[in-house]
Amino acid sequence: MDTDRDTIVAPATAPGGALAVIRLTGPEAVAIADRLFRSRRPLAERAGGSCCFGTIRDGERVVDEAVAALFRAPHSYTGEETVEFSCHSSSYIIGEVLRLALQAGARMAGPGEFTRRAYLNGKLDLAQAEAVADLIASSSRAAHALAANQLRGGYSSALDGLRERLVHLAALLELELDFGEEEVDFADRSQLAALLEEIDAETERLCRSFALGNALKEGIAVAIVGAPNVGKSTLLNQLLQEERAMVSEIAGTTRDVIEERLTIDGVAFRILDTAGIRHTEDRLERMGIERTMRTIQRAQIVVRMVDATTLHGGAVPPFELALRPGQRLLTVLNKIDRLPGAAAFKAEADETAVAGALPNAAERSTDKVLPMSARSGEGVDVLRRALRAAVPTEALEEGAAVVSSARHYEALTKAREALQRAREGLAAKLPTDLLSEEVRAVAAALATITGRGALLPDELLAHIFSKFCIGK
Ligand code: GDP
Repeated sequence: MDTDRDTIVAPATAPGGALAVIRLTGPEAVAIADRLFRSRRPLAERAGGSCCFGTIRDGERVVDEAVAALFRAPHSYTGEETVEFSCHSSSYIIGEVLRLALQAGARMAGPGEFTRRAYLNGKLDLAQAEAVADLIASSSRAAHALAANQLRGGYSSALDGLRERLVHLAALLELELDFGEEEVDFADRSQLAALLEEIDAETERLCRSFALGNALKEGIAVAIVGAPNVGKSTLLNQLLQEERAMVSEIAGTTRDVIEERLTIDGVAFRILDTAGIRHTEDRLERMGIERTMRTIQRAQIVVRMVDATTLHGGAVPPFELALRPGQRLLTVLNKIDRLPGAAAFKAEADETAVAGALPNAAERSTDKVLPMSARSGEGVDVLRRALRAAVPTEALEEGAAVVSSARHYEALTKAREALQRAREGLAAKLPTDLLSEEVRAVAAALATITGRGALLPDELLAHIFSKFCIGK
């Protein structure tokens, strides 16, 4: 875009608070800043990395006292000349500073335009630029670690490494093509097969990490299901320790899926409270139940609640819902306070129950129950720990690349499809030129993630940066 050479301006801070930061970046940033800011020496005479106190002026009228931070290209966030004014955060002052900057020759920045410049000027690659948006949006320790790992560039360099090997591989194949008739054996085919397999394994690992990465970013979805009146809303309130869900004695009152966010030990969960499941003629309630079924499908963890007082002979009824592979099931036996032999149940609510309560769908036979009194809060902590234990975050803590962007997942899936074709082609002794084409397709798909080694269409960049806020 031609406009990528303009000098742009935008507030970088949200309204409210005592101070506001207004950023100005581009070739004319220092000259424009000097037109509206006065201090002992003009910014043009100052070195990068300096800060100075002065006044923002409209002619001789003082609009505000401010601090200007000066960053000289290429040592700035955007890689361009940059001035950041810290002024008082009044909407009037911010409006005036922007007006004066526009009058002096800047234009308003679009969403994400500062980061777009950082990308265009080679300060960040695309995956890192996207991590900036995730970092700003992160609201839990795990989401923060995800974004911070990606921003540090470990994931990018792993992808670049894969891409380089692929380009080398394609080159080897093309050499074989050129010299093939002279029987020069450049690329041993079994070696090629091994290399493709290795790259496929790494790509697959990244693809698999998306399930966790996406869930950590969005919040792990937990569906609380069970018959009406088992105590789902009461449990939700206990988890949130606030009266947010509606609790009532009339069966079937929770008609909508209520979603609440909660953080347990650095991991964000989205707790979905659902309409009770039972046979009903009520149309509205039936719609609620259908929604519940869909909610269960979406959830990573299903918490099934059973009312202890309705059990005969102490057996927990079998769970009739089909779980997806990888979906976790936790069973809660609620209202134990109303059981005559409650003490025995309570004794079981310890760490062993937590470990045993996390079978996946395939190992349901080992399913243990978590005794609870949602009303008194007894056993709720055990459930909290069990929820947290169901999310494996070790990889993240070790700094491994975990994919959290749907765009990256799509690119990796495309890469895997081409890898599959290349591997099959190799096995079927496909001509070298066709093989090399597939290998190049894999490299191209991977290159779209970081944007390095690929020329990306402007629409894609526009789409990515449009999701940023203005001023970033
Ligand atoms: P939901 O329909 O599954 O959401 O159930 P509610 O949370 O609305 O609870 C239904 C009724 O059961 C309410 O009167 C709750 O106070 C009561 N209740 C919930 N949990 C317990 C519990 O652990 N012990 C006892 N005694 N009552 C409970």
